[in-house]
Amino acid sequence: MSEKRGGQHYNCIGVGVGPANLSLASLLHGDGATRSLFLDQKKSFTWHDGQQLPGTTLQVSMLKDLVSLADPTNRFSFLSYLHAHGKIYHFINAQFDDMPRQEFRNYLSWASHRNENVRFGERVLSVEFDSRFVVETDRRTLTADNVSVGIGTSPWVPPVATGLLGDDQFHVCDIVEKAQNLHGKRVCVVGGGQSGAEAFLDLISRPQGQRPRRVSWITRRRNYFPMDDSPFTNDFYMPGYSDHFARLDGRTREKLNTEHVLTSDGISEATLRAVYQRVYAHRFLEGNRDLVALHPNSEVTEVGRDSTGDWSVGIRHGDRPHATTDIEADVIIWATGFRPAAMTFLEPIADRLEHEGSELALDNSFAVRWDGPPDRNIFVHNAAHQQRGLADRNLSLIAWRSQRIADRIRGVRGDEPLESFIEWSPKSGQAGSLQGAHE
Ligand SMILES: Cc1cc2nc3c(=O)[nH]c(=O)nc-3n(C[C@H](O)[C@H](O)[C@H](O)COP(=O)(O)OP(=O)(O)OC[C@H]3O[C@@H](n4cnc5c(N)ncnc54)[C@H](O)[C@@H]3O)c2cc1C
Repeated sequence: MSEKRGGQHYNCIGVGVGPANLSLASLLHGDGATRSLFLDQKKSFTWHDGQQLPGTTLQVSMLKDLVSLADPTNRFSFLSYLHAHGKIYHFINAQFDDMPRQEFRNYLSWASHRNENVRFGERVLSVEFDSRFVVETDRRTLTADNVSVGIGTSPWVPPVATGLLGDDQFHVCDIVEKAQNLHGKRVCVVGGGQSGAEAFLDLISRPQGQRPRRVSWITRRRNYFPMDDSPFTNDFYMPGYSDHFARLDGRTREKLNTEHVLTSDGISEATLRAVYQRVYAHRFLEGNRDLVALHPNSEVTEVGRDSTGDWSVGIRHGDRPHATTDIEADVIIWATGFRPAAMTFLEPIADRLEHEGSELALDNSFAVRWDGPPDRNIFVHNAAHQQRGLADRNLSLIAWRSQRIADRIRGVRGDEPLESFIEWSPKSGQAGSLQGAHE
């Protein structure tokens, strides 16, 4: 049946099927009163497949799956996945300290293919509004009461690298495909976060016949800093803190995101230990003295071809800004992060949507503030770290955020978890009162 104009109507259409929208799709699944459809432009499910290096692990608790923190009995939990594959005992006995990233990817893939409301190979081109949302895809026209945007992030490189990317200079998101034949080459890894560390570790861990001749690791950070994964720090990744953060003024929020960046963007300690031990073995046990070059506190200021046609990477030291050094390289890998993907499909209604700084302004249910009817909403995942803090782009709160969205769509208000042990702000009316302290 043709589904051109006047085609199918849904209570919620999701744009993008990464973990964020897949969490919402899982929570809405089986709800006969809420018709939903989630579309992804990719042919089939992938999750950072271009970066699935051997031995990499998830950086959050295994309980932070698509649904468990909001709805532990949901059929799309990680436990259900293990059970469905008959490997629940094996998983327990393997005693992983952290979940292998490949296993989490396989779990997500299973959840996406088990949910008939999820479709791949369909790109959303535009969203208009005419008493309901009109969603144009590259295949058909659909309508919806609500739209949920979960399009994630795009790879980012600094301006010095713009226009230079190709086979011998690429973003780390393509490392699996492009870093295959590096034997005998000089490779520069730029970026001191988890992705940079994984790339560096992978290169220096290759067997002798496949290993580069030299691997340099450059970061602006003063050292290769760990991610703070300790108990009280993890209270930043709780629902109550997300709400508290949203109530702060813009300047304080920006300051907190800068101060606390290593709670999400640092390197996991296990990776740092593995890197250090590998470097030790090369230097002191295997005699590979020149393999590794470590350049923290250094910013790449220039990249160009030298007279022999090799890449020359100019770096400036943080403490000696007038002294620059050039590093020669055959290949450069940029592990310089990701930025929110552009929501170009919202252009037809862009002037109706409120902004806060560079982000769409969101209310407490992650709905964009706009001039349309209150029961017609565009929800946005993973694009509000200025308003919601570092947890917004992390897996920690996806189930809770999706539950808030699902509740709003259904017009109900679900239970919230207990508050943190920490009082993030003084309770109004208590300031200066000694009464509470003696009770
Ligand atoms: C290598 C890597 C490892 C990570 N590991 C962790 C971790 O361990 N813990 C953690 O908390 N966070 C981690 N993150 C951060 C974050 O959790 C992930 O990036 C996560 O994938 C974000 O989910 P998402 O659903 O927002 O976006 P994505 O996973 O990027 O999915 C977005 C989807 O939208 C689709 N899309 C875009 N535009 C359209 C359109 N117009 N129409 C249809 N479909 C569209 C895309 O094809 C894509 O599939 C990691 C990030 C990276 C890069």
